[in-house]
Amino acid sequence: MQDVKGKTAVVTGGNSGIGLGIARALAAEGANLVLVGMDHAKAENAAATLARDYGVSAIGVRCDVTNRQQVETMADKAYAEFGNVDILINNAGLGAGGPIHEITEGDWDWVMAVNVKGIFHCCAVFLPRMLAAGRPAHVSNMGSEQSFGLADASFGSMVAYTASKHAVLGISESMRRDHANDGIEVSIICPGPVATDIWNAERNRPAEFGDKREVSPEGKDVIHDMGMDPDVVGRMTVEGIKAGDFYIFTHSYIRDLVKARHEEALTALEKTDAWHRLGV
Ligand code: NAD
Repeated sequence: MQDVKGKTAVVTGGNSGIGLGIARALAAEGANLVLVGMDHAKAENAAATLARDYGVSAIGVRCDVTNRQQVETMADKAYAEFGNVDILINNAGLGAGGPIHEITEGDWDWVMAVNVKGIFHCCAVFLPRMLAAGRPAHVSNMGSEQSFGLADASFGSMVAYTASKHAVLGISESMRRDHANDGIEVSIICPGPVATDIWNAERNRPAEFGDKREVSPEGKDVIHDMGMDPDVVGRMTVEGIKAGDFYIFTHSYIRDLVKARHEEALTALEKTDAWHRLGV
């Protein structure tokens, strides 16, 4: 998709943080927007601001991406308003920290429900409509540096988050192959730390996934001190979409995570080759 001008983009989690940064970058290039969030007023306010600032059309829709029915209703609203959806940014996501023996079942289920099943629901609802439209389209899924390796140790263990972002890589690679010949382009966005409200994801935890945990304000300082501006992530994402890139990286040091993983695996495979040379 060489140009996003006049196209319609749905951005989940689009009223804050990276989602808002991507939405702003899309609006700056003339795309119309459906901003999807957990809070209707915030989504509508963000949409009204972008519409005013960039002269595009934008609506805000409340939708919990873990709920298929709500995603269907949100898609109906998007198609009723704009007639077509060309770009889907599956950005909504969150983290709940802790090693595997300490997190609760609610922590695990919540992270997987939003970060992984949310993408499943949105793709299941939008892809058939995109395919039926027969127009070029782009689906971008929010991964992380943690799709490739572990974050800086200062963030502590985030096993459910890391697992969910590995799942996003698997989903994205499979989608790319499945849609190689039907006009649907796929990408995965893999940021390192970005200065957003992700440290306070607990604000969105529904009761079905357990009690809200206390969050440390120190988390805010860490992510805001070392985090990239979400608008920069937004601009890099839109450039990646226009270039048809699969991987959209924002932090160069992720190269070290990619290299370390592959070098370790290749070294392990050398041992495997040695076994086979012995006739095992
Ligand atoms: P954020 O908390 O500002 O944004 C998360 C958004 O997701 C919010 O708008 C929230 O309302 C929405 N959301 C949460 N649960 C939802 C649900 N069930 N249905 C619909 N929307 C829901 O944080 P962010 O950092 O902008 O996070 C956006 C994405 O970027 C996430 O997928 C996150 O994992 C990813 N990411 C963030 C960083 C970082 O350092 N901030 C780094 C890599 C990847």
